[in-house]
Amino acid sequence: MSRIIMKNPIAELDGDEMTRVIWRQIKQIVLEPFVELNTEYYDLGLPERDKTDDKVTVEAAEAIRRLGVGVKCATITPNQGRMTEYSLKRLYPSPNGTLRAMLDGTVFRSPIIVPGLKSYIPGWTKPITVARHAYGDVYKAVEMKVPGAGKAEIVFTDANGESRKTIYEFKGEGIIQGMHNRVDSIESFAHSCFEYALSVKQPLWFSCKDTISKIYDETFRETFQRIYDSEYKARFEEAGISYFYTLIDDAVARAVKSSGGFVWAMKNYDGDVLSDMISSAFGSLALMTSVLVCPGGQFEYEAAHGTVTRHYYRYLKGEKTSTNPMATLFAWTGALRKRGEKDAQTELVDFASCLEKAAIDTIISGTITGDMAALYPGEAKVVDCESFLNEIAARL
Ligand code: NAP
Ligand code: MG
Repeated sequence: MSRIIMKNPIAELDGDEMTRVIWRQIKQIVLEPFVELNTEYYDLGLPERDKTDDKVTVEAAEAIRRLGVGVKCATITPNQGRMTEYSLKRLYPSPNGTLRAMLDGTVFRSPIIVPGLKSYIPGWTKPITVARHAYGDVYKAVEMKVPGAGKAEIVFTDANGESRKTIYEFKGEGIIQGMHNRVDSIESFAHSCFEYALSVKQPLWFSCKDTISKIYDETFRETFQRIYDSEYKARFEEAGISYFYTLIDDAVARAVKSSGGFVWAMKNYDGDVLSDMISSAFGSLALMTSVLVCPGGQFEYEAAHGTVTRHYYRYLKGEKTSTNPMATLFAWTGALRKRGEKDAQTELVDFASCLEKAAIDTIISGTITGDMAALYPGEAKVVDCESFLNEIAARL
């Protein structure tokens, strides 16, 4: 059989521990026999980040910016324990943080839906993708304790002088908090959300609390609406999808009763809280994918889980672990599909879809990894990661 030749490369960002092992297995077992992989390889494994003083992470971000598509393996964000374990020169920042800061994107998390696998909300038969605005609000807030009676004010100063508003006239002890956001950040968030909804052809919801927060949240609502009306309305209508704004509490109530199948954009705090609720409702962290969508049109795919350290220590002792490769596999199919779409290379797009189908069919037919056993309705054959991938390759 002749292998698919990729017209253009993608940036490949290798990582750490168990996911590094799975990375190699995925390439060998289900990708390389079918596709002549064309990648620019960056080793983001902790030893290489240490060796290059983290320059490799910066180079990887530049490669994604240049090539338009990247796929990333999970990586260790070092803490004091890792510093000793890997004899690091210093505590490096989170690679995802560096990539996000350089590419200025929004992260979209969506579950892989396998028909038959138990979801804690049975009505959710289609994925709900959460987009969280990752800048500002309470995460960049300034706080103060109020010791006793006194007046708290917001003051803004510029070339025209000062403007001020009273927050509260305290009679006794209290607390205050000052939050901010930037219109350019909200605009770039809105663009990423509209682009992502178009790329997956699903409706976009945005929700906040503009009835209570008549300037702050209203600026979010207004910004989304303005950008939608001027730049996306026609494209959404052409794609047969909609943009829908509703209050956050109404959105939560509607989401629970929905069957899924939409992209839900949220402010920073709402996204933090609800993304954890939604991912656990869909069953397993190992079935959750994540993509960074940048306003410049670049896409970087990864699994939402970490490097699965506990399994890696067992692997090092020679054990075969039943680690679930689905989210990492879907990071690869996401990247290959996007590469194919950008290059109008249908066979690559089709390959990505066939591989996803083979993986999902493998689970439906009852061959699974250990973490899925609790979600599987009947008797299933629990296998190690490598056997699971071999089973997928056989179907492919
Ligand atoms: P984790 O790697 O996601 O693993 C937590 C637990 O979840 C595992 O021990 C395992 O439970 C289960 N799990 C996660 N993925 C699985 C899979 N594919 N198959 C089967 N079970 C899976 O989170 P962590 O242990 O908190 O973090 C480990 C390292 O990952 C840390 O160094 C952290 O910095 C890094 N991290 C990286 C990223 C990223 O690169 N995006 C994200 C998060 C964390 P059982 O052990 O019970 O089977
Ligand atoms: Mg959270």
